[in-house]
Amino acid sequence: MNFDDNVCLAADGHSTECRHCGVTLGESRQTPIARARSIERPSTAAGAGIQADPSHYTDREIVLRQRFCPNCLVLLATEIVPRDDDPGRDWKLR
Ligand SMILES: [Zn+2]
Repeated sequence: MNFDDNVCLAADGHSTECRHCGVTLGESRQTPIARARSIERPSTAAGAGIQADPSHYTDREIVLRQRFCPNCLVLLATEIVPRDDDPGRDWKLR
């Protein structure tokens, strides 16, 4: 079962793996990219479309968070979120 273009359910039916290199990305459907590498940068690093200073709109620190396969470094996710948000909140297989 494919979760998206980069993540699929492993043959064991519980863990997830990278569709490009086969490395395990998560131990369960509830944490499908828990082993992903993560980098965080200021939200303005997302490109010309993100120019506003988030501090004008919120007291929370806003970051550009990108998550990569720890083996082949394919990009798994890009999001602009509050830094203190749970990095796995939207990454659950049902
Ligand atoms: Zn990979």
